[in-house]
Amino acid sequence: MELKIVSTTCPYCGTGCGLNLVVRDEKVVSVAAWQRHPVNEGKLCPKGRYAHEFIHRKDRLTKPLIKKDGKLVEASWDEAYELIATKLKTYKPEEMACLASARVSNEENYLMQKFARAVLKTPNVDHCARLCHSSTVAGLAASFGSGAMTNNIQDIAESKCVFVLGSNTFEQHPLIGRSIVRAKQKGARVIVFDPRYTPTAKQADLYKSFYSGTDVAILNAMMQHIIKNGWEAKEYIENRTKDYEKLKAVVMKPEYSLENVSGISGIPAKDIAMAAEWFATAPSACLLYSMGITQHTTGVDNVKSVANLLMLTGNIGKVGGGVNALRGQNNVQGACDMGCLPNVYSGYQKVIDEPAVKKMKEAWGCDVAGGKIGYTVTEMMDVLTENPPKLKAIYIMGENPMISDPDLKHVEHALKNLEFLVVQDIFLTETAQLADVVLPAACYAEKDGTQTSTERRVQRWHKAVNPPGEAKADWEILCELGRKMGFEKQFSFKSPEEIFNEVARVTPSYGGMSYKRLEPEGLHWPCPAADHPGTPILHTQKFANPDGLGVFTPIEYKPPAEVTDAEYPFILTTGRCIWQWHTGSMTRRSESLEREAPTGWIEINTEDAKALGIRNNEMVRAITRRGEVQVAARVTGDIRKNVMFMPFHYAECPANVLTNNALDPIAKIPEYKVCAVRVEKIKEA
Ligand code: SF4
Repeated sequence: MELKIVSTTCPYCGTGCGLNLVVRDEKVVSVAAWQRHPVNEGKLCPKGRYAHEFIHRKDRLTKPLIKKDGKLVEASWDEAYELIATKLKTYKPEEMACLASARVSNEENYLMQKFARAVLKTPNVDHCARLCHSSTVAGLAASFGSGAMTNNIQDIAESKCVFVLGSNTFEQHPLIGRSIVRAKQKGARVIVFDPRYTPTAKQADLYKSFYSGTDVAILNAMMQHIIKNGWEAKEYIENRTKDYEKLKAVVMKPEYSLENVSGISGIPAKDIAMAAEWFATAPSACLLYSMGITQHTTGVDNVKSVANLLMLTGNIGKVGGGVNALRGQNNVQGACDMGCLPNVYSGYQKVIDEPAVKKMKEAWGCDVAGGKIGYTVTEMMDVLTENPPKLKAIYIMGENPMISDPDLKHVEHALKNLEFLVVQDIFLTETAQLADVVLPAACYAEKDGTQTSTERRVQRWHKAVNPPGEAKADWEILCELGRKMGFEKQFSFKSPEEIFNEVARVTPSYGGMSYKRLEPEGLHWPCPAADHPGTPILHTQKFANPDGLGVFTPIEYKPPAEVTDAEYPFILTTGRCIWQWHTGSMTRRSESLEREAPTGWIEINTEDAKALGIRNNEMVRAITRRGEVQVAARVTGDIRKNVMFMPFHYAECPANVLTNNALDPIAKIPEYKVCAVRVEKIKEA
């Protein structure tokens, strides 16, 4: 019995841990430590440890499926391709859309946006980054000229003050949590503000709970206190930034006094002051955030406020500083880099810039969609519910909006209004069940490729086993379909490496990368030339804006789109747990993970539960303006009074039936983190 060890990266979060797949008899039987991997050094969180368990599940998709008489039935690849090609040719470009995936490789994402723009000629391509970090891309790009995490993961350990705002790092990016621990061991102070007393909060030197959605007010109050005390980085502000006076005019307003913001946020004034002092006077300070900052109708404002604080204290472009925007999924950074957004080609080259359009036309040797920004995911769902719907066909690769998107009744209504839906996935997800054609795809262990983690590290995937049955890698499917639709030359790739070489040719930040150079530990972009070592820390000399300066943006506090009232008196916030991953299509099929957290719950503060007469584990009805869900109560002192929390992984009690699809006006990200809810006891019959 011969064992084969294949190194690759973890298919779950954006940390990008390296792992070794143990293969015996063409089966991945275990995951072993990759001791020398620079990010995780042989350690794995439970999801990484059990990342092999779903691979050989019997319910993997193994053959294409076509809907006949309302039922999905097995078909040949030829039949499926013929149907897709014939149907898609009947629609106008603006009637079609493609959703790429944060779960698949860079090469596959690059091909999906190429398929949309070169074959379908549609500008409508997006993916789930819209739902997690689109506000980061917009907010940081406006402030720094680049929308990515500024420092690398190991660098967090060098910080002397780590401020975690809107991230449950120890559960959602556990191996990044190690860097926080290391920073602490080296004397750093850790501040955590979160409505829940999470495992991350338990590591803090200063923890305070607050009302979800009040981040801008808190950050403005901290900045006011810093300026009042003269702790701002005067030289840095003078030499490296602009519009400081505009920022000052807003943050110094009386409404952002410590006392006033204490009333808004629920954090005592002295603690906001202490956080401000610790952050501003530390030799280096960084801020870690995730979806607690981004998933708001003020998501872009929140991100710009974070950028303001970091520039005010001179903490961008230095060791131990930085805005560490922690990306959720393993390749969400890469899917954005590859141009799976409606406004940019790969490398954030704008579709409305004529030279960029010309460049892509020349590179691809055909006419391409350009000059117009397409629909975002959230806009797609909205235009699908118009009468008549503006979209007719959507091709979804590796996404499950029927669990992940806000206001699920609205999403279901939208997807059912489609004339033609193609879903390419590894399991028959809730979304795939609605499809007209389902294409069986390979999972991470069954293909070569690259992914880009939250710290901009581009790393290799190595194929360990063949996909099951007739399933194929996403890149093979897209190439075969592209050729079938008449784009022989544009989709002639024989391997992921050939695709990556094209990515490097057309994407300046990946220009110096090759498969050879990515072994064994990867490279951080930007890496513009073959002799460039990569860039672990951004903005060390100048910002990426044309004039090299960082831009302060004055931001006023705005309350969430939906606030509590007599009918819906509690704030509902949503998120994840350490055992499950997003819509659960992989983790819920992993025995060791599912066993630990087999169904959903709603966290209710002990005092609130007492007032409502609700006991721990009792089934309750959670109701918002959009729908209701029956779910078990988890009564706990670890959540702020008047705030409730639900994980969104569970189809049997889907939190996103309840969430609000109100959008940030710039990033179009929905406000998953705040809506108004009421909870009722279920009366026994
Ligand atoms: Fe995988 Fe993230 Fe856990 Fe690392 S921290 S093992 S990347 S889920």
